[in-house]
Amino acid sequence: MIIIITVGVLLGLAYFRARMWLWSVALVIAVGAIGYVFCVSTGALLGLVGATTVLALVLNLRPLRLNLLTRPLFGLFQRMLPPLSDTEREALEAGTVGWDGELFSGDPNWQKLLDLPKPALTDAEQAFLDGPVEELCSMLDDWQIVEFDKDLPPKVWRFLKEERFFGMIIPPEYGGLGFSALAHSAVIVKLASRSITAAVTAMVPNSLGPAELLLHYGTDTQKGYYLPRLAKGEEIPCFALTGPEAGSDAAAMPDRGVVCKGTLDGEEIVGIRLNWEKRYITLGPVATLLGLAFKLYDPDHLLGDREDLGITLALIPTGTPGVTIGSRHVPLDMPFMNGPNWGRDVFIPLDWIIGGAERAGQGWRMLMESLGVGRSISLPALSTGAGKLACRATGAYARIRRQFRIPIGQMEGVEEALARIAGLTYQLEAARSLTCAAVDRGEKPAVLSAIVKYNATERMRQVLNDAMDVQGGSGICLGPRNLLGRPYQAIPIGITVEGANILTRTLIVFGQGAIRSHPYVLKEMQAVGNPDRVASLRAFDENFFAHVGFTISTGVRALISGLTGGRLLTVPGGPNSRILQRLTRLSSAFVLTADTAMLVLGGNLKRKEKLSGRLADILSNLYLASAVVKQFEDHGRPEEEQPLVDWTCAESVRMIETSFAEFFRNFPNRPVAWLLRLVTFPLGIRPAAPADRLGHQVATLLMAPSSTRDRLTEGIFMPQDENEPLGRIDAALVKVIAAEVVEKKLRTAQRHQQLTGATEADLLAAAVAGGVITSQEAKAVEQANAARTEVIRVDDFPADTWRQGGDQ
Ligand SMILES: Cc1cc2nc3c(=O)[nH]c(=O)nc-3n(C[C@H](O)[C@H](O)[C@H](O)COP(=O)(O)OP(=O)(O)OC[C@H]3O[C@@H](n4cnc5c(N)ncnc54)[C@H](O)[C@@H]3O)c2cc1C
Repeated sequence: MIIIITVGVLLGLAYFRARMWLWSVALVIAVGAIGYVFCVSTGALLGLVGATTVLALVLNLRPLRLNLLTRPLFGLFQRMLPPLSDTEREALEAGTVGWDGELFSGDPNWQKLLDLPKPALTDAEQAFLDGPVEELCSMLDDWQIVEFDKDLPPKVWRFLKEERFFGMIIPPEYGGLGFSALAHSAVIVKLASRSITAAVTAMVPNSLGPAELLLHYGTDTQKGYYLPRLAKGEEIPCFALTGPEAGSDAAAMPDRGVVCKGTLDGEEIVGIRLNWEKRYITLGPVATLLGLAFKLYDPDHLLGDREDLGITLALIPTGTPGVTIGSRHVPLDMPFMNGPNWGRDVFIPLDWIIGGAERAGQGWRMLMESLGVGRSISLPALSTGAGKLACRATGAYARIRRQFRIPIGQMEGVEEALARIAGLTYQLEAARSLTCAAVDRGEKPAVLSAIVKYNATERMRQVLNDAMDVQGGSGICLGPRNLLGRPYQAIPIGITVEGANILTRTLIVFGQGAIRSHPYVLKEMQAVGNPDRVASLRAFDENFFAHVGFTISTGVRALISGLTGGRLLTVPGGPNSRILQRLTRLSSAFVLTADTAMLVLGGNLKRKEKLSGRLADILSNLYLASAVVKQFEDHGRPEEEQPLVDWTCAESVRMIETSFAEFFRNFPNRPVAWLLRLVTFPLGIRPAAPADRLGHQVATLLMAPSSTRDRLTEGIFMPQDENEPLGRIDAALVKVIAAEVVEKKLRTAQRHQQLTGATEADLLAAAVAGGVITSQEAKAVEQANAARTEVIRVDDFPADTWRQGGDQ
C-alpha cells in the first residue's frame, strides 16, 4: 500500500509539473517511508535517505548543481550538438512561435486558442472582394489565357495595376491597399478559383519580394521611391533567389557581388560588380525591378575588415546595363510570367542594397525573418481556392452525373472520394484562416508557415486527384467547360515553390519545429553557443534542468493519458471536448517521443529524414485538428457542421497514430523504441479511418445546396451566368434535385406496370396523360435532363484549331 501511495504521490507531482524542490522533498520522504516499511536496518535506511538527500541537495542548490552536474553535462552537450552554420542559425532563430509552442508543451492551452478573436475582414476589404476582385474574375477567360494567349490580356494587366492588386501589402500612406493577411489571402482564394495564372500573378508581388523586404528593411529613401511605384504597378517586381546550382539549397548560390570602385553617371563611386544566373523567377520576364540575392565579397576591404560579407539583397532596375531578362519558362503550361535572368558585370551603387550599405551581408537573416509571412498566405490560399472549387463543382457533378441509373455520388466508392474532398477542404480553410489570423496579430510564423504550406498543397493535391477521379473524362478533356484540368495541372508548382514539399516536410517542419517551438531546446543550444562562459553555464543549467523536469512530467502525463485515453484531462467543454482530450494526449506522446529521439539520435536525427518526416506529420496534424476545432467554434458550433469536424479530426488522429506506429517500428534503438511505445501507447496503437457512416454524412453535404455547403465553398468566384461552367453546374444541381421526386413517382409507376414508353419523352407524356405526374412536373424532369446533358458535355475542337493559331 505504502508503495502505491508513494509512487502515486510522485507520479502526481510529476503529472502536475511540481517544482523541483517539492519533488525532491517528496522523493526523500518516499525513499524513507519505503525503506522503513521494508525493515531495512537502521544503518541502511539512514544511508539510503542520506544518499537521496545529498542528491536532492545537489539538484536544488545551484552552486553545487553547477559544479557537480551542469559543467560535465555542458561539455557532453557541446560535443553532441551538430555544428550549426550561420545560415542554419539564422533560419532557426528567425520568426516567431505561436500555437506550435503550445503543441510542443504537451499540454496545449485550448482556452487560449478558442478565445482568440474570430478572423474577420474589414468593410473596406470585403468591399474590395465584392467589387474589384469580382470584376477581375469576370474579366478572366482562363481557357483563352492558357490555351491561346499564353498571357493575361492587356486589359487585365491594366486592371490589376489600377486597382492596386500588386500593392495589397503596401500601407495606404504609400498608396497601397494595406490589407490584412486574411484579406490578401481571401483575394487569392477567389482568384485561384477562377484562374491559377491570375492568382499567381497577383500573389507574387505581395509575397516575399521587393515590397515585403522594403517594408521591413528599406531605407526611407528606398521606401519613399519604390513603394508608391510598386503599389500603383508602375514597377513590376520579381524576386530572384533560385539558380541552376542553388534550388532547395538556396544559400549555396554561386552568384557573386564584389565591392569595387566603378563609374556611374560619369562619377567614380564605391559600388558592387555583380554576376549572376537565376532561373524559375516568377514575373521575371516582365519585371522592371529585380530583387536579387547574391553573395557579397569585399577583397579590397573598401567596406571594412571582413572579406566574405555573406548573402546580400539588392533592388536592380531591369534596364541596368548588363542585365538580361525576358525569356520564359513554361511551368506546366500555366502562362504566368516566369523565366531565367542573368547579369554580367553589372555595376550598382551600394545604396541599391535593400536597407543600404549597413545591411550588406544580412540578406539571409532578412529572408528567413520575412519568409514566414508570405509562406503563410500565398500557397495555403491558392490551395484553399482550388479545394473549394472542387467541392462546389465535383459535389454537384456527383449528383447530376448518373451511371447504372443512379447518381454516381450514391456509390460508396465515389462517396469515399467525396468525403475526402469535403473534409480536407474544411481543414484547408481552417488552417488558412487560423494562420492568417496569427500573421495579423504580428506573428511571423516560422514553423507553422512551413506546416501550412506543406499540408495545404498536399491536401490540394489529394482533393484535386479525388475530384478528377469523380469527374472522369469530363475532368480530363480540357476546354472552356473544364473547371478542374488547369488546377490539376498546376499542382506540382505549388508543391515545389516556396520550399519544395519533400524538404519542407522532412527537414523544416520537424527539424526547425523541434528546436524552435520546443520550450527548451533552442535556449539550450543558444546557451551552449554563448561565448560568455559564466552566463552560458547558468543559462544552460536553468534550461537543462527545467527540460529534464518537463520530460519526466510529459512522460508521466503520456502514460496516464495513454491508459485513460485522455479522459482525465481538463479541456474546455462543448461538443468537441473529447477531441481536445485526444489531441492533448497525442501532444504529450509527441513531445516525449520527439525529446527522446533528439536525445538518442542527436545530430543524426537531421539525416534520419524518414523518422523526422513522421514526427513532422504528427505535429502537422495536431495543428490542423486544432485549426478545425477553432473554426467550428468561430462559426458558432453549427450542428450540421459537426460531421465535418468529426471526419477531419478522426482522419488527423488516424494519420498521427499511423505515424507513431511507423516511427516506433523504424526507430534504430530498439529497446528505446519499445519503451517509448509502451509509455505513450500502453494499450496499443490501432489507427482507424473515419467511420463509413461519417464519410457518408460528409459526402452528402456536397451533393445538395445548403448553408453548410455554401460556408464550405465561401469565398470562391460564383458566376451567376448559366453559360459559365460553375454557374451551369450549380443551377443544374437545383433542377436535378427538383426532378428527383418526380422521377421517383415515375419509377414507382413503371414498377407497377402503369407506364410504358420507348423514349423519355413518350414516358413523360404517358405519365401526364395517366395522371401519374402533372405537366409542370414533367417540365421539371425535362429541364433537369436538359441541364444534365449540358453539364456532362465535354468540349471538342476542329482538328486544325491549333494549326491555325487558335480560336482568337
Ligand atoms: C513555377 C516556379 C516558380 C518559381 N518562382 C520563383 C521565384 O519567383 N523566385 C525564386 O527565387 N525561385 C522561384 N522558384 C524556384 C523554387 O523555389 C525552386 O524550384 C525550389 O526551391 C526547388 O528547387 P529545385 O527546383 O532546384 O529543386 P531541387 O532543389 O533540385 O530539389 C529536388 C527535390 O529534392 C528535394 N530535396 C532537396 N534537398 C533536400 C533535403 N535536404 N532533404 C529532402 N529533400 C530534399 C526537394 O524537396 C525536391 O523534391 C520557382 C520555381 C518554379 C517551378
